[in-house]
Parts: sequence; C-alpha cells; structure tokens
Amino acid sequence: MTITKKENPKAKRIPIRRCIACNKRIPKKDLIRIGISSGHAQIDDDGRLMSRGVYLCKDKECIDKAGKKDLLKRCLKIPADEIVYKELYDKI
Ligand SMILES: [Zn+2]
Repeated sequence: MTITKKENPKAKRIPIRRCIACNKRIPKKDLIRIGISSGHAQIDDDGRLMSRGVYLCKDKECIDKAGKKDLLKRCLKIPADEIVYKELYDKI
C-alpha cells in the first residue's frame, strides 16, 4: 500500500468543533454537544436541539473545568443544572 499526501476525494470531511473547556479543535464525534431546551442546558446527543450549542470533550478534565468555571452557563447564557454535569460524566 502506498501512502500519499493527496487527499482522498472520497474521504468524508470530518466536522471539527472547539471544546469550550480546553479550546482544542476536536472531531465532532469525540465531543458532547450541549444545547438549550426549555431555557436550560441539555445534552444534545443527536443534534436535534435547534438551538445554539456548545461542545465539550468526552474527557473528565474538560467536564471538571467546565463545572468549576461554570462554562455552560457562561457560554450558553442560561442556567446549567448540576444534573447536566452528572449526565456529562455518565458519557465518559
Ligand atoms: Zn476539551
């Protein structure tokens, strides 16, 4: 097998999003999306919340950081209940 630097035109473009905790650009599939439902932060597994959303790594450090700095509240400008963080930990 030959390795070339040419992009395979058949390769799917991987969507990249930025994690609000570490600010790294990560493939969307490795992130958890959090959107807004009824004025509260809610994990948006299948992208059905048509609201403004933010992304967090599936990583304890990032969720810890988001919790400590209240990043969900700051980024989404809405209350983020503790249950959201609990659900985030359940996903990693
Ligand atoms: Zn992160």
